[in-house]
Amino acid sequence: MKVTVLSLNEDTIKFIVDGVDTAFANALRRTMVSEVPTMAIEDIFYYDNTSVVPDEVLAHRIGLVPLKTDLEHYRLPSECDCDADLGCPKCRVTLSLNVKAEDERKTVYSGDLVPVDPAITPVSPYIPLAKLASGQSVSLEAYAQLGKGHNHTKWSPVAMAIYQNAAEIKTDAATAAKCAEESPKGVVLSKKDTIKVVDVQAFNRSPTCASLLKEGSLKDHMKGDEFVFTVESTGALPPERIVSEAVKILNAKLEELKRKVDAGELHEEIKDFEAPTEVGRRLYSIGSGEFEEEEGEEGAAGSEPKYDEQGN
Ligand SMILES: [Zn+2]
Repeated sequence: MKVTVLSLNEDTIKFIVDGVDTAFANALRRTMVSEVPTMAIEDIFYYDNTSVVPDEVLAHRIGLVPLKTDLEHYRLPSECDCDADLGCPKCRVTLSLNVKAEDERKTVYSGDLVPVDPAITPVSPYIPLAKLASGQSVSLEAYAQLGKGHNHTKWSPVAMAIYQNAAEIKTDAATAAKCAEESPKGVVLSKKDTIKVVDVQAFNRSPTCASLLKEGSLKDHMKGDEFVFTVESTGALPPERIVSEAVKILNAKLEELKRKVDAGELHEEIKDFEAPTEVGRRLYSIGSGEFEEEEGEEGAAGSEPKYDEQGN
């Protein structure tokens, strides 16, 4: 397996993974989306909310505010020894919000959430949460905790995590160089007489590149074992950290699987396969979700089942 980083900035990383199959690429993607933990607000105590936004709607908006995450100092509530409903300082962070519109209308922003731990602050202070007319106010205490995207997407660290197959086209050295020159940086990598396409849209915008495909499409040149990943962070974690955490988690899961396979252990939920029992000639009503007994004697001679009459 070979990994090449194509670009990295504050919120996005683009890299190539060479020498893996689609199953692995997808496992890595899914781990990034739903297994890498981040901080998000889970519980809220309202002291006051006289805005027109109902408590639960405001709570939902606040829950979706991405928070900068510190994975070193906090643990998942399920892995914490406190066993408390609202957690302890090891597994939660308190943020407070107190906004009152005095004489003028006022907008409540994510930046009004003041954390006890300055490391766990909203990624952007400019996310509007509610508008207040004069005299209205919102006052609350919010508890953020680590969680995973598979429980709620507010805990997913990625705004986008995708991959596409890389493609390779053989040509002559001059054309390869020209194609790379015409393309935006990092889109086409030329290597002597071979060009590697890592961005399909940008490839098609370059006339020299596009002319390489006289017949057929880029699809014919796609490699089944090389993938270009684009991972955009919500801002909770640096993008490269999301990838490295996902690899750690995937590794731990595979180790666990190996241990179980070696020990001949079964998953506790796996039971012997049971064939569904025959329910007889009954119709399932989608409307009520219940089985309806057919008219007349079940299986009586001469009575055709309803689904045959309707031609279904
Ligand atoms: Zn705790």
